[in-house]
Amino acid sequence: LIQLYLPLNVLGFAYREIRQGLTDTEEMFALLDEPQEVADAPGAPALRPGPGEVAFEDVRFGYRPDRPILKGVSFRVPPGRMLAIVGPTGAGKSTISRLLFRFYDVTGGRILVDGQNIRAVQQQSLRAAIGVVPQDTVLFNDTIRYNIAYGRPGASEEEIVRAAKLAQVHDFVMRLPEGYDTMVGERGLKLSGGEKQRVAIARTILKDPRILILDEATSALDTRTEQEIQAALRQVSRDRTTLVIAHRLSTVVEADEIIVLQDGKVVERGTHAALLAAGGLYAEMWRRQAQALAKAEEAAGLDDAP
Ligand code: ATP
Repeated sequence: LIQLYLPLNVLGFAYREIRQGLTDTEEMFALLDEPQEVADAPGAPALRPGPGEVAFEDVRFGYRPDRPILKGVSFRVPPGRMLAIVGPTGAGKSTISRLLFRFYDVTGGRILVDGQNIRAVQQQSLRAAIGVVPQDTVLFNDTIRYNIAYGRPGASEEEIVRAAKLAQVHDFVMRLPEGYDTMVGERGLKLSGGEKQRVAIARTILKDPRILILDEATSALDTRTEQEIQAALRQVSRDRTTLVIAHRLSTVVEADEIIVLQDGKVVERGTHAALLAAGGLYAEMWRRQAQALAKAEEAAGLDDAP
């Protein structure tokens, strides 16, 4: 069982900056007062509806001209499939998700959603098609209901409860004295990382995007929380094209394709089994990970029986 919940954080996947915890651009730019770097082309059309295919074609990008971060990254995620992105800290994993959401424009190559270059469509329509479940969700200082309904303003109580159930957070909410009216956030009830992430998942289920970006938590979670989050993630990613910055074995094992990013390039790609068999960087990462975990458990004298 332990193999299923092996966190990758001992490999040194670092903590990400707070900006990734924010749920959408408006919030992000409002809170960080960051200038918006991308603009709609004049007369840009809305993204046309489609099944949700995502393609990166030789994508190049750097936050500064003198320091390339992505050096020609290509992949294609068919509609409804899951791509896991792994690699050492600083490799450019989060940068891929920021570019797909178009926080920045690529400096070379192109990103296509259902065959449409994302530079040529209205940002708002692009972002409406993409749901982001960040690693560290920042909740509004408002009720749980508000925080979930934010995914689709005007959602009915029934829809909110249904989303919360799928996200495995309904039972938790029902145990709170004021249920869905409980105030949360910095000035309200403080939720654990896992609880906040499930609120973010409920919000995304309501938003119902055709593409999903998941940023898995690096922190170790207790087995029960881990199982609840995995079940919630399975619900939200079902039938959606999913890109996941993966830190958990349970995720990579299920992914249709894994890309291993190193120093801005895809150095290996394939399924978990194929990459293990190939005996390259990915296999080495897992070997080290398993060793570190075994050591940590020995030290803690843990009995891993569920
Ligand atoms: P981690 O696992 O640590 O989150 P990552 O693979 O997701 O790493 P990215 O966050 O994509 O890595 O960052 C890639 C590189 O880009 C890093 O060297 C980082 O310092 C740099 N970088 C990230 N954001 C910015 C920014 N806003 N301005 C300048 N450099 C940045």
